[in-house]
Amino acid sequence: MPCQFLNFIGGQWVPGRTQRTFPNINPANTDDVVGDFQASGPEDVGAAFAAAEGAQTAWAALPAPRRGEYLFKAAEILESQLASAATDMTREEGKTLPEATGEVKRAINILRYFGGEGSRMFSYQIPSERDNVFCFTMRKPLGVVALITPWNFPSAIPAWKMAPALVAGNTVVLKPASLAPLSALRLVEALEKAGLPAGVVNFVTGSGGAVGDALLEHPSLKAISFTGSCEVGDRLYEKATRRRLRVQLEMGGKNPTVVLADANPDFAAATLVNAAFFSTGQKCTACSRAIVERKVYEPLVERLIARTRALKIGNGLEPGIDIGPAVDESQLKTDLEYIAIAQREGAQLLCGGTRLTGGAYDTGFFVEPTIFGGVTPAMRIAQEEVFGPVLALMVAEDFEEAMRLANGIRFGLSAAIISNDLSRVHQFVNRIEAGLITVNLPTAGVEYQLPFGGTKESSFGMREQGPLALDFYTESRTVYLKHTV
Ligand code: NAP
Repeated sequence: MPCQFLNFIGGQWVPGRTQRTFPNINPANTDDVVGDFQASGPEDVGAAFAAAEGAQTAWAALPAPRRGEYLFKAAEILESQLASAATDMTREEGKTLPEATGEVKRAINILRYFGGEGSRMFSYQIPSERDNVFCFTMRKPLGVVALITPWNFPSAIPAWKMAPALVAGNTVVLKPASLAPLSALRLVEALEKAGLPAGVVNFVTGSGGAVGDALLEHPSLKAISFTGSCEVGDRLYEKATRRRLRVQLEMGGKNPTVVLADANPDFAAATLVNAAFFSTGQKCTACSRAIVERKVYEPLVERLIARTRALKIGNGLEPGIDIGPAVDESQLKTDLEYIAIAQREGAQLLCGGTRLTGGAYDTGFFVEPTIFGGVTPAMRIAQEEVFGPVLALMVAEDFEEAMRLANGIRFGLSAAIISNDLSRVHQFVNRIEAGLITVNLPTAGVEYQLPFGGTKESSFGMREQGPLALDFYTESRTVYLKHTV
């Protein structure tokens, strides 16, 4: 009998009012049901908002350093459960145990970082033109904020939204992705055990349609922070802006790595394998396009194929596995569909390309890491996000062509260059249309203490993480104070 997990509303673990549940299934072994979660509806969302509204005034009145103390305590609690939280994550999402452990550690660091922001929360003191007038700005919380998160970083993303929201004095209604809600629940449990006052955090599971719509339509909603696909983000944007709500959207990417002629092909191949295939390519910052100067193309391709073929694919709970499964059958289908489309459009399949079957593979959603050569900018594999382990290789005759290819897409999340040519690297950093830029590093692997976000159609609104994260969750007030004596 699978374990049943509840919603967390007003400080209580409660069943959904619909009395329906949905299963959370291990994508590496579909016989393993991680648990059943509440298929909530609008009434549950209403109850969560009522609780969040009820807790808002007292929470906002608590001095920010004391709000931060709850985050420090939650970090400590989560740290004491690191191994089990990581195992939960591998079971529900499929990423390898070392990757899951790294992600839970990151969530812990995020809680600590924003706990510390409680003692900073900087604003401005600006000189007045007038005598005896003292001017400054203050940060005020927004009120009740809704957080909607995806499955691919099921602990880190809820943490990097909840922690700044809470330390800034907001109360929260969190809806995690239905494919991986347990990792977010573990975070909420840590906050509960840290003694967070009832109603400050509320956790409601259920489908995007049923819960998401009710969240967006709730009259008390002040802001929404969303991470997920462009399709859902676009819909949320329309609804939120119609109501003049504050909205923050982090969405898809088609992230390039430019490899210049001077690059060491071994180093470039290792960097690309890490960026394109780790976490099964299911990172918004994963590299899915390598744009390679002709001189280094052949030696790079040879090494890339060898390294890719050496990757071990399997259940991420087992030692030595490099790559886990696609998160579910639908994502696996998408991966295979794009592989077929690329072949139909004339790209050359260099390695991978098929679903893995036989033995333990038959109970999971495993696809080989796949590389296409001869990709041209008009092909769909060059333009559309797959969100799987599929890398498209494009040849550039020179640096200018590489820049054109890199920027010739609607997305702008992350981008990398591999080169020691200082002048070209500087030009790349200045001209690349991406929010996250790396040099001689994978496109993925960002740190929590720096701002995170993209440009073009990848993102909308203020940055997440780092010191800028507080801007989204606070409203600035400007004060002019005259000394009358
Ligand atoms: P998704 O399908 O857009 O889902 C994201 C979240 O939105 C889930 O909680 C989902 O709920 C919810 N949702 C779905 N329909 C909704 C609706 N009508 N109203 C409100 N909420 C709704 O994305 P995903 O498949 O989970 O994640 C993969 C995508 O996320 C990729 O495109 C990836 O690039 C992007 N991503 C971006 C970043 C970034 O920071 N830029 C980071 C990670 C992932 P259900 O789970 O119940 O459907």
